[in-house]
Amino acid sequence: MKLILLGAPGAGKGTVAKLLTKLDGSVQISTGDILRSAVAAGTQLGKQAEVAMKTGDLVSDELIMGIMEERLKEDDCKSGYLLDGFPRTIPQAKALKTLLDQIGEKLDAVVEIDVPKDVILDRLTTRRTCSKCGAIYNVKSNPTKIQDVCDKCGGAVAQRDDETEEAISNRLNVYNKQTAPLVDFYQAEGLLLSVDALSSDAVVDAIKAKIN
Ligand code: ADP
Ligand code: ZN
Repeated sequence: MKLILLGAPGAGKGTVAKLLTKLDGSVQISTGDILRSAVAAGTQLGKQAEVAMKTGDLVSDELIMGIMEERLKEDDCKSGYLLDGFPRTIPQAKALKTLLDQIGEKLDAVVEIDVPKDVILDRLTTRRTCSKCGAIYNVKSNPTKIQDVCDKCGGAVAQRDDETEEAISNRLNVYNKQTAPLVDFYQAEGLLLSVDALSSDAVVDAIKAKIN
C-alpha cells in the first residue's frame, strides 16, 4: 500500500507504520529517521538539518524534497511505502503530487491520526528512542528490558534532543501552523481518512478496512 501518515508529533505515526510494514512488505519512510541518521553520521545533510531539528523547527522544503525524490525512486518502494513525517507543509504536498505524477504512482490514502493533546504531551515526555535503529519505547508503557539498552539491537536508548519541554511545545505549534492545513488539502484530493486513535492497533484496523 501507498500511504501518507499524518498526525501531530507523538500521534503514533511511527508505531502505526511499523505495524503496517508487517502486513504487506511496504517500507516505512520516516524523514525524521533519515535526518537523525544524517546528524549522527555528521554528513553535509545532517549539518544543514541539525539546528532546526534541535529547536523543533522544520528543515527547508528544498532539503526534504531532495531526500524524498531520491528515496521514492529506490527499488524497495515497489512493494509500497508508508510516508511517516512527510509531507509536512503545503509546498511539500504539492511537490510530492508532481513527483508522483511524474513516476506514475497514486496514493491509496492519507491517514490522519487524531490524538487528544494531553495524551500527546504525556507520550512525548515519556518516549525514548533507540539512537541506532530508531525503535520506540516508553518509560511507562513500554520500557526496555535493560535500562537504556535497545531490546532489538543493543543500541543506546535515550530521550531525543528535541524532546525537551520547550522543543516539544514548539513542535506542536509548528504542526498546527504548517502541517495541519494538509488535512484540508488531502480532503479536497479525496484521499483523507481520519481516524480517532484509540490505539495503534485500532488505527491499523481502520486502514485495513478502508483499503481492502
Ligand atoms: P515527530 O515526532 O515530531 O513527528 P519526526 O521524527 O518526524 O518527529 O521529525 C523530527 C524533526 O525532523 C522535525 O521536528 C523537523 O525538524 C525534521 N523533519 C522531519 N520531517 C520533516 C519534513 N517533512 N519537513 C521538514 N522538517 C522535517
Ligand atoms: Zn535499536
